[in-house]
Amino acid sequence: MELWNISAIDQHAHNLLQPEAITRYPYAAAFSEAHHTDIINYHARHTLFYRRSLRDMADLLKCEPQESEILAKRDNLGLENLTKTCFNAANLDTILLDDGFLPEEILPWQWHQQFVGVKRLLRIENLAQNLIPQVNSFAEFWERFRAEIDPPPPEVVGFKSIAAYRTGLEIQPVNIELAKSQFNAIKKITGEKPPRLNNKPLIDFLVIQTLEVAAKHKIPIQFHTGIGDPDLDLRLSNPLHLRFLLEDNRFRNAPIVLLHASYPYTREAGYLASVYPNVYIGFGLVIPSLSVAGMRCVVRELMELAPISKLMYSSDAHLIPDLYYLGAKWGRKVLGEVLDESVKDGDLTVKEAEEIAVDILRRNACNIYHL
Ligand SMILES: [Zn+2]
Repeated sequence: MELWNISAIDQHAHNLLQPEAITRYPYAAAFSEAHHTDIINYHARHTLFYRRSLRDMADLLKCEPQESEILAKRDNLGLENLTKTCFNAANLDTILLDDGFLPEEILPWQWHQQFVGVKRLLRIENLAQNLIPQVNSFAEFWERFRAEIDPPPPEVVGFKSIAAYRTGLEIQPVNIELAKSQFNAIKKITGEKPPRLNNKPLIDFLVIQTLEVAAKHKIPIQFHTGIGDPDLDLRLSNPLHLRFLLEDNRFRNAPIVLLHASYPYTREAGYLASVYPNVYIGFGLVIPSLSVAGMRCVVRELMELAPISKLMYSSDAHLIPDLYYLGAKWGRKVLGEVLDESVKDGDLTVKEAEEIAVDILRRNACNIYHL
């Protein structure tokens, strides 16, 4: 099934790097979640993702599939023309940008509007970190935090939490006295610069505050789940840890989006989406960074159990525009193949499969983010 003509919504990605910042990262760094130089400088060039992507980018840029040739072509085009080439080939309608990743090094979300529709995702841990040096008391901190999210700025269509990276997804209710004492302890050691927030009671408190607001306005909240860079303890990013939040009826109106197909906890994510009405799943990062067989397997595993109405395309593209194109290319191709299999198996009719492709590539995101 060919899905190129469906203009997709990429419901989770990140801003591109400023041209000055790009030179600080080797090309292969965009194809790896690792930090260690031995991986970035050597092993990252030995993944199936990198090898396949060189040929994809060479085809797009009309050059030889060698890193040096591709880099020369990219340099020649310049960032704006390269971005235009990648976005046009990706056939994207709208992208949802989490601008909390490398905030000092990225281009603002507005810059991306010259190529594609853009909405913002507000990363709550960054908001809290930035507020801490600006306030004098917990009461002021709490009030300012609530004011920023209730309601959020007009361009914001969802919240994002990286609790998985910092203190894990086993988020529990926290009483206000404990949150206050933790805030005071952090405040004591914070100078002018925002601290790195990694205090479990305070993060749990802020996530629950955000969920209340999300439920009130029916705004989705995205959670990082599954794989990421080594800052993450993968054991704590299993979405099954979210049980307390999922069981709590106060948050039933807040759509909860599990990012990265929760890989390798993909079947766990599919199960959660099948039993909790407000759980949704995004594909990004595993698409396009696994082998083709791996991507096919993830989409298959999600569709084994999860309702189709719960699945959404995303790329988790970051740093360079190439990843937007590679995500869109492989997201469509793999989804088309898995839908073809479902037709062959008798799970779906051709007409149903065609409808589902539109649902996953754009309609479900339009509905839950009110685009
Ligand atoms: Zn992301």
